Amino acid sequence: MQVKSNFKPNVKCIDSVEVNCLDKQESVQLATDLSTKKEKVLTGDRATGQLHLGHYVGSLQQRVKLQDMYHQTILVADMQGLTDNGHQPQKVASNILNVVADYLAVGIDPLKTRICLQSAIPALAELTMYYSNLVSISRLERNPTVKNEIRSKSFGRSIPAGFLTYPISQAADITAFNATLVPVGEDQLPMLEQTNEIVRRLNHIAGSAILTECKPLLSKVSRLPSTDGLSKMSKSMGNTIMLSASEREITKAVKSMYTDPGHLRVEDTGKVEGNVVFTYLDAFHPDIDYILRLKEQYRCGGLGDGKTKKILEECLQETLKPIRERRAMFIDDKAQLIDILKRGTEQAQEESNRVLTSVKQAFGLNLF
Ligand code: ATP
Ligand code: MG
Repeated sequence: MQVKSNFKPNVKCIDSVEVNCLDKQESVQLATDLSTKKEKVLTGDRATGQLHLGHYVGSLQQRVKLQDMYHQTILVADMQGLTDNGHQPQKVASNILNVVADYLAVGIDPLKTRICLQSAIPALAELTMYYSNLVSISRLERNPTVKNEIRSKSFGRSIPAGFLTYPISQAADITAFNATLVPVGEDQLPMLEQTNEIVRRLNHIAGSAILTECKPLLSKVSRLPSTDGLSKMSKSMGNTIMLSASEREITKAVKSMYTDPGHLRVEDTGKVEGNVVFTYLDAFHPDIDYILRLKEQYRCGGLGDGKTKKILEECLQETLKPIRERRAMFIDDKAQLIDILKRGTEQAQEESNRVLTSVKQAFGLNLF
């Protein structure tokens, strides 16, 4: 069976936003809020490295779409990046502008989206301090994402206090901008739960709803695996295909991808589940019917890994080419990147200060 596709990728061609976490009624409400622009969106990325394909399908594509519908703030989370990099701060400092260049390269528009720098917004640190009185250590230790990270980073009891408490700092980030929608990968869902617990506690203390609870917005691909299929693609694991990846790097990464170890000859029947090449084709190839037909052929036998990898490679090359070219242009103009970040940060300072004032009032700390 010869399977054909007329795929012509385009960075601007973004899939529709899927609200996986909301039930039907909530989705209808969301659509109404969307049309009245009631929702405020906050997302962010740790400045621990360049952004990768996981960010692209897990969050960035959605943000490009959301910026036309909502008031969107994106935070370059440098302070959060330090929580497991206190011993090598240069890793964080040197990646701030890399992350901003990645945003612009995928089509985030600073005229529509406020891009700001966490460490330059003092209210975020202050809010973190207030909220930390509303959360117990045992609750922090129960957070499944933090638990996994502590294990995978082999922290043991030497876990930095800042790392254990970073969900509190994320609650500060989200509430400081009155965000009601947070596009995230699935690893971030427990953070949003903790944020909403803090919001409820604070509102109880205040006696009125001074903070708003947030809802997650999961993308179609909320956890893109690494090319070996062993873990989530993540900057800290060094297992990424970066948005700036060269043609050769993409080729190499696709060649080394995990497929089905039992699929040795072209005529063998193959497994699609857990086969990273198909996971990526599902995530990146826009021709869904074509991929369905390929899967069927792979399962029945008669489709080699060389062929599926070639289709994926072509798709990734075409997807990343315009991003890589735009990124190279932006990273060349550091003054422009700093200017964009500074302007966004100044606006963010004003908004977060207003929230800080109301939180201090809730604690009765408004003597002058
Ligand atoms: P680090 O290893 O430093 O934690 P990271 O690669 O996990 O970096 P983050 O900055 O922690 O990236 O994540 C920013 C956002 O991107 C989060 O919402 C996260 O869920 C999402 N994200 C990160 N990696 C992936 C992935 N592999 N698949 C889907 N979403 C992802
Ligand atoms: Mg992470």
